[in-house]
Amino acid sequence: MSKKYDVAIIGGGIGGLMSAYRLLEKNPGLSLCILEKGPALTKRFCPIIAKKSDVCVSCPSCSIMEGMAGAGAFSDGKYVISTEYGGWLTEFLSPETVIRYIEEADGILVSFGATTERFQPDNELKKLCIMHDLHMNQAQVKHLGTDSNFETMRKLIQSLEPKCEIISEACVTDVNKDSHQVFYIKKGIEKSVTADTVIFAVGRAGNDFFSKWCLRNSVPLQNKQVDVGVRVELPAMVWEDFSKKIYEPKIWYRSKRYGDITRMFCFNERGNVVMENANGVMTVNGHAYRDEARKTENSNFALLSTTNFTQPFKAPVEYARQVAYLANLISGGSVLVQRLGDLINGRRTDEKRLRASTTRPTLNAVPGDLSLCMPKRQLDNIIETLYALNEIAPGTSNHDTLLYGVECKYYSARPKCEDFEIDGCKDIYAIGDGAGVTRSLSQAAANGLYVADKISGRLLK
Ligand SMILES: Cc1cc2nc3c(=O)[nH]c(=O)nc-3n(C[C@H](O)[C@H](O)[C@H](O)COP(=O)(O)OP(=O)(O)OC[C@H]3O[C@@H](n4cnc5c(N)ncnc54)[C@H](O)[C@@H]3O)c2cc1C
Repeated sequence: MSKKYDVAIIGGGIGGLMSAYRLLEKNPGLSLCILEKGPALTKRFCPIIAKKSDVCVSCPSCSIMEGMAGAGAFSDGKYVISTEYGGWLTEFLSPETVIRYIEEADGILVSFGATTERFQPDNELKKLCIMHDLHMNQAQVKHLGTDSNFETMRKLIQSLEPKCEIISEACVTDVNKDSHQVFYIKKGIEKSVTADTVIFAVGRAGNDFFSKWCLRNSVPLQNKQVDVGVRVELPAMVWEDFSKKIYEPKIWYRSKRYGDITRMFCFNERGNVVMENANGVMTVNGHAYRDEARKTENSNFALLSTTNFTQPFKAPVEYARQVAYLANLISGGSVLVQRLGDLINGRRTDEKRLRASTTRPTLNAVPGDLSLCMPKRQLDNIIETLYALNEIAPGTSNHDTLLYGVECKYYSARPKCEDFEIDGCKDIYAIGDGAGVTRSLSQAAANGLYVADKISGRLLK
């Protein structure tokens, strides 16, 4: 027998959690369950983060991406209060509405202990960028820090526990679009629940599952953009004129050679480069602790070149995975690190050259040659952008600047929806990164709140 709920939320990331929070706040007594593929937050364990292993051991469920609190759990917790970047919600809602929901989500996080400190945009720095044909996105940014972000999410989940049922280690395998029966596997046993309303909040980790579900249920999908590139690591002092003032410089550049956009983002001051397991493919990312004792000498940021595919190509996610997979192949299942100087000189960074580097790597990646796995076009764009960035932060294109590859950001296919309700699937919604409409904590949170309000409005009627 399937247990029956008013609402079932698939995915316990920030989008799903904010939906649950708002639904229970506005509708006390509502029966609601959250089904999460990964473990409970306090059981999430990444051997690399815990310093038990230097390399990814390919856990059956990647604790960086999956588990209660979602992909944000071990994130740096940069909370962007802007519509300039972080997703595409303004394609569906007015900028004022998006900001209002971002602020509301921030208020909820603050009530669970998140900092109130905000970094403000800086016009002088923006002007400096423009002088060198670089374009800086302006936003208010909060930096929760990996440690404090984890604690805030723990408290948010703790507040929900008495009010709803949280079923972790429950991998949803199917949803019947007519009966709303949600099938999942827990400890090898297939189970199900039924709900009047279902919300898919599956994040990037659920991209494959959700796309296949859409295809099986004849829901049209749209998907074309992919960002491929590297994680750049250098001495923290190189970017401190920016980071001290605005915390996170987000800068884009249009290459002269191809006219492509390359973006610098996900900046982590005095942070660590980390490896993540994206459905079996190792990619790179970065984070930074707020705790002084855990800070490093280096800062890191993502530098990714954007490609928008056109007809007939329909598999941008697979494209990015294949590029990242090549780096895994060359490095024996890991990720590569190369000094910029070696890349420019057309030679591999080997152990000896890496030991000679004045920038000490924070991730134990395999020294190698990125030009053997990254497409020329993306690599050219990255090198050109590094030289452009060097004009505003001298030292960026130093010989010993470290490039880790491959980092890619692919965005889940976007299902056809009407106000986030999936086409032809009454009372089934798709939100957040998994629906291809957001790519940040703040927009995923805002999306969760918005859809919860929409469902509450319907319930009240
Ligand atoms: C290392 C890292 C650092 C980041 N840093 C930042 C940052 O500083 N600032 C920022 O704004 N953004 C950051 N991001 C991005 C941010 O984490 C995401 O944009 C945000 O978490 C998206 O929220 P979501 O709820 O849509 O999805 P997620 O947080 O991805 O949550 C989705 C959840 O659904 C679960 N799920 C998937 N499939 C199933 C299934 N079949 N059954 C049950 N459950 C399923 C997953 O396990 C996951 O827990 C970072 C991401 C990573 C990986």
